[in-house]
Amino acid sequence: MEFHKCSILDVSPQQLAGGAVLVRVDFNVPFEHGVISDDARIRAALPTIQYLIEKQSKVILMSHLGQPKSPDLAFSLAPVAKRLGELLGQPVQFVSECVGEVATAAANALQPGHVMMLENVRFYPGETKNDPQFAQALASLGTLFVQDAFGTAHRAHASTAGVAAYLPSVSGFLVQKELEFLGNAIQSPQRPLVAIIGGSKVSSKIGVLKSMLGKVDTLVIGGGMAFTFFKSMGYEIGKSLCESDKLGEAAAFLDQAKQTQTRVILPLDQIVVREFNNDAPSALVDVRSIPADGIGVDAGPQTVAMVREAVLNAGTVLWNGPLGVFEMSNFAKGTFAVAQAMAEAKGVTIVGGGDSASAIAKAGLVDKMTHVSTGGGASLTFLEGHDLPGISILEDCYVTR
Ligand code: ADP
Ligand code: MG
Repeated sequence: MEFHKCSILDVSPQQLAGGAVLVRVDFNVPFEHGVISDDARIRAALPTIQYLIEKQSKVILMSHLGQPKSPDLAFSLAPVAKRLGELLGQPVQFVSECVGEVATAAANALQPGHVMMLENVRFYPGETKNDPQFAQALASLGTLFVQDAFGTAHRAHASTAGVAAYLPSVSGFLVQKELEFLGNAIQSPQRPLVAIIGGSKVSSKIGVLKSMLGKVDTLVIGGGMAFTFFKSMGYEIGKSLCESDKLGEAAAFLDQAKQTQTRVILPLDQIVVREFNNDAPSALVDVRSIPADGIGVDAGPQTVAMVREAVLNAGTVLWNGPLGVFEMSNFAKGTFAVAQAMAEAKGVTIVGGGDSASAIAKAGLVDKMTHVSTGGGASLTFLEGHDLPGISILEDCYVTR
């Protein structure tokens, strides 16, 4: 029998109507000078919240914001509740605690179709410790738990996983979408499957690289990470990023790739500078002739052309990690060119990783991708094939045919 993680669509309308639904959202939004500078994460949760309002549930939202170790009003979710109210076009009642008399009274008084938002769950030490008592106190506010915070689903905290021990638990639309797109991309992709893995560190990406062996048709290794591989191959890499303690692992990985017949593409050329700043004079060099004082900061045109060709011919492209120091405008060309190729591609295009998602947003191409994951670390953990604590706890729904 086939099964999938239950979503709110698997919950009957009767159960939703009048039920107190405890929803974990990821409203960890950026602030600038005390004002929300990007509300994308709040918007991303709207479909789930609106669905529950429509079904006449009593909606109780929980989230973290930043990493406060104790109550600190600089990390209060009050301004987030206000912004959510504006986006929903109906007031969102902000409750200045998560558990206790005030929260309980507010939950009891909440009307069907109304929304309330609890204060930052990280004001309580029990949150990150996944303290059962704190989880149970949170759970006592509701009759159903909805997990819609994919970005924190790789952490076993009280509000992301602990509460599920006390309540029936299902995913919201955002999490459902993530599981569907990321899951299909690795389990049943349209082929050829091309993975582009870049970014700065071999240490953070070696897990996902290994998990791709034998599964992907082509693996592009780019960004700062590529230099550790080049060094392991005996190339001069100058002062480019290198993790000396990962040379052995990099060499072993390239060997394994050969054994599993996974085609690995490394950059052909690089933009190099002598000083790590945006205005430094730069040169284009072959990767086999990086000068001893050179720092590779971006993929060159030959590399871009090769990756572009792979992307355009792919059935599925999975991209995690920028191909250069895209935060510096002069070294963003390679990353943006690959983003552009993905935008033009006919195949399925999936982007995971915080910086990759922000590069796609910077390039204005979010709408051209099949799916841009909202979970940085979570998407990586998922792609590596590991269970996410905030997902494993969801009920399984069986599909009978
Ligand atoms: P993601 O968040 O998408 O998973 P990572 O965090 O792994 O991506 O990597 C992003 C970082 O990699 C960016 O800050 C970028 O500047 C850096 N990076 C990419 N290429 C290079 C390079 N050649 N040298 C130094 N840093 C690089
Ligand atoms: Mg990152």
